[in-house]
Amino acid sequence: MTCLWFLSLLAYGLTILEGVNCWIYIYSNTNKNYDDAEKWCHNHSAKLVAIQDKSINGYLNEILPHNPSYYWIGIRKINDKWTWVATNETLMKKDENWATGEPNDLKKNEDCAEIYIKRGTDDGKWNDEKCDYTKAALCYRASCNESTCSGNGQCNEGFNNYTCECNPGFYGRNCELAVTCPAPSIANGSVACSDPSANVTWGNNCTFTCEEGFILKGPDTLQCESSGNWTEEQPSCEAVTCPALTPIANGSVTCSDPSANVTWGTNCTFTCEEGFILKGPDTLQCGSSGNWTEEQPSCEAVTCPALTPIANGSVTCSDLSANVTWGTNCTFTCEEGFVLEGPDTLQCGSSGNWTKEQPSCEAVTCPVPSIAHGSVTCSDPSVNVTWGTICTFTCEEGFVLEGPDTLQCESSGNWTKEQPSCEAVTCPVPSIANGSVTCSHPSANVTWGTNCMFTCEEGFVLKGPDTLHCESSGNWTEEQPSCEAVTCPAPSIANGSVTCSDPSANVTWGTNCTFTCEEGFVLEGPDTLQCGSSGNWTKEQPSCEAVTCPALTPIANGSVNCSDPSANVTWGTNCTFTCEEGFVLEGPDTLQCGSSGNWTKEQPSCKASERPYVNYVYVGIAAVSASVLTTAAFFLWLARHLRKKAKKFTPSSSCQSLTTEGSFQHVGKTV
Ligand code: CA
Repeated sequence: MTCLWFLSLLAYGLTILEGVNCWIYIYSNTNKNYDDAEKWCHNHSAKLVAIQDKSINGYLNEILPHNPSYYWIGIRKINDKWTWVATNETLMKKDENWATGEPNDLKKNEDCAEIYIKRGTDDGKWNDEKCDYTKAALCYRASCNESTCSGNGQCNEGFNNYTCECNPGFYGRNCELAVTCPAPSIANGSVACSDPSANVTWGNNCTFTCEEGFILKGPDTLQCESSGNWTEEQPSCEAVTCPALTPIANGSVTCSDPSANVTWGTNCTFTCEEGFILKGPDTLQCGSSGNWTEEQPSCEAVTCPALTPIANGSVTCSDLSANVTWGTNCTFTCEEGFVLEGPDTLQCGSSGNWTKEQPSCEAVTCPVPSIAHGSVTCSDPSVNVTWGTICTFTCEEGFVLEGPDTLQCESSGNWTKEQPSCEAVTCPVPSIANGSVTCSHPSANVTWGTNCMFTCEEGFVLKGPDTLHCESSGNWTEEQPSCEAVTCPAPSIANGSVTCSDPSANVTWGTNCTFTCEEGFVLEGPDTLQCGSSGNWTKEQPSCEAVTCPALTPIANGSVNCSDPSANVTWGTNCTFTCEEGFVLEGPDTLQCGSSGNWTKEQPSCKASERPYVNYVYVGIAAVSASVLTTAAFFLWLARHLRKKAKKFTPSSSCQSLTTEGSFQHVGKTV
């Protein structure tokens, strides 16, 4: 600010030089010693002038009137140091403005200072002078007073100004403004300052506290420095964090606050994987002090109860450690002769229980042996047939053991072989060809005690017993019979032949046989026979009788001489006629008996001629011959009749000599 200076002259011996808001210079119109000058100034609410700026010396020289005694100024030697009396401050070298050669203390005790005004030389300069000399008092009423710098600083007078040198903590031209520090604030906490006003000024202390769950980071108390800064960085309330949880093995943690730093109030819940169980609390809370409420839990492997040792067996577990953990499989096996009752494998479940009931090794038992129509005797008489027992099977009479007679109970609980059975004894199934069997027991299998009766069809005859009995040994009492085909006696015919419908050697029932005779023979009897079911021919067998020609009429006067001398003239016989002497043959001399039983020609006759005698001879011969032939024919019939009877005993078709009671000789041709 620029001062506008003006001069006012007062009637009371003082002159005031005044400027607005600036210094006021007052000087006395009378001279006084230094002490009185000080008092005078004091009485005018002023002090002996203090000259802080050298330029003021020249200024004073201009505006003040000349006084031959010059003017006292506010510099005095105190304790041998030049001191500003207004402020009691030592004169600084830089502010010195002594006249040439001064201060020289020429008259001794020149302890006070004057200023030369309009002297001609050293104008505005200072000189040390004895204090009891009298001079005009040059006072200044400082623009600085107690309130100039608001009481918060030192007021420094200037040539036309003053400045406030503010005490620390104040600023502004008149130090009217107190330094304030930035308003302290803290999130999640509170500040309490010694100065409760809105603006925290220099020197105040502020104390910071944090809400629950937050912890102060930084100093708890700050002081507002005169520079307007806090002594330190403002603290902050950091959320309390709990120590990071150790990762839980075989489990997991889920926290309500998913951020990296687990803050106060966060709940963390622990869960374990399958097969693990939580040991400790399942939930931890981060306390306001930054500690977890409880010890962190752990996931312990689930263990199943120890298995009871199995009698007569053993257990093998996949996990060989003492504690059987989840997932372990234990397999049970039994010693030989014992069998597992219950599951062969147990698993340790995730809940710590075995999946099934523990099995046991039970002694192997074989199925109780039994046999119908028989009995069993075992080496172990107890109800349960155990391993190693031997059982022997026997059957009742009429039954036979089918299968082994002895079984042993194996360690597997099975018999060494199939159990046998007692099968009813059966006899071979009876059968008969061309016949039938009727048994007392009609079942397919002919069992012991059955009687079977055999019969034959018509034309067959039973050979063997008609009834058989099935014995307990399975054999028939006798050989089985058979039905033999009925056969008729072989047909035969002398001088002929037989042709049968059955060409086999044995002529069986129903066979037809046809008989034919050779030339010269004629069939006597039926030409066909049938073999009856009883083994007899339906009729008598026929015979081939030799064809005979009619007896020749005895030739008169002649004779006949036949080649067959027998009574019956048979086929082929030649008869030659001769006439007695005197007779001549009229007709063929020879006749032949033809196969048809006729003479080949008409019988001749002897005609009397010269030799009728001859004819008588021939007649005689013929008569004898006829009687012989008749006799021979009788014997032939007799012989055949006897032969038929003999055939019943000795079937022979050949003709042979035969001697009986009589002594007949068979005569005839052999067939
Ligand atoms: Ca001097």
